Amino acid sequence: MTCACASLSGMTVLPAPAVGRFAPSPTGAMHLGNARTALLAWLHSRALGGQHLLRFEDLDTGRVRPWTCDTTRRDLEWLGLDWDAEYRQSERLDVYADALARLTAAGETYPCTCTRREIQQAILDSAGAPHGHEPVYPGTCRVHAADPGRPAAIRWRVPDETVCVTDALTRGTLCQNLPGEVGDFVLRRNDGVFAYHFAVVVDDALMGVTDVLRGADLWPATPRQVALQRALGFPTPRYLHVPLMTDYRGERLAKRGGAPSVQALREGGEAASRVVSALARSLGWEAPERVTAAELLPFWRARLAEAGFFINSQT
Ligand code: GLU
Repeated sequence: MTCACASLSGMTVLPAPAVGRFAPSPTGAMHLGNARTALLAWLHSRALGGQHLLRFEDLDTGRVRPWTCDTTRRDLEWLGLDWDAEYRQSERLDVYADALARLTAAGETYPCTCTRREIQQAILDSAGAPHGHEPVYPGTCRVHAADPGRPAAIRWRVPDETVCVTDALTRGTLCQNLPGEVGDFVLRRNDGVFAYHFAVVVDDALMGVTDVLRGADLWPATPRQVALQRALGFPTPRYLHVPLMTDYRGERLAKRGGAPSVQALREGGEAASRVVSALARSLGWEAPERVTAAELLPFWRARLAEAGFFINSQT
């Protein structure tokens, strides 16, 4: 077993030009937590003098609500967060198909026609994951031929490796053993929808993304994404995970949980400068009561300096 470590230590050296992105799933109206992540992603791209991309992750057609793309764009503009290019994953299916074909040609994938119930049973039978971890698919279809009568998902035959990633902001390191803690995960579902982990890896690489700033909920997904990048011969971007916003009970805001939407604040006549200020203050920044996103750049630069970034851009 090898340990392939993608750790960063000491000072972070910045390649130029940096490319960052905000990649919302248009499944509902943006709430303040989404807005805070969007703000930080924008501040990061701009603090580095880089490009900023907006990518709608709209592959999961069953969950997508198309009107939210428009609302999200308006919310971002209202908050003063611009972008240099926009993408929609649903328009890039051939790009994912090509990448999948490469892995398949290399013998790294296999079709799987197990039902959800069969997989659950296999996990129970195999004693599953260590207590408290996500259930790990035990690779049943690696050895059993797929049933030609059923639609097949495509799984990645994960390498027998432990992958470690260090977050460039928190400096935390996470190591995961791929077979033991992750398992052969799905790249394309049996309804033909490309899976999030796969599309995100292909997109970040092909869009030249150097800096992935996103919510801390995706930190546990990072080692498998790094592993997939390596299998596809893609570079690994820098990862920065930021805390999710929580409500007064300490529970994370959720689109379905009735968290107030940015749209409601915008349409209700609230001033964007006060909302931006509230987002900054929720991070512990001593921002004035009204502030623009651009005026927060010094706060983010200070945070980056604390994390060991050396910024020579004068933007
Ligand atoms: N689309 C994901 C979400 O809205 C974010 C993906 C990412 O930043 O890697 O949670």
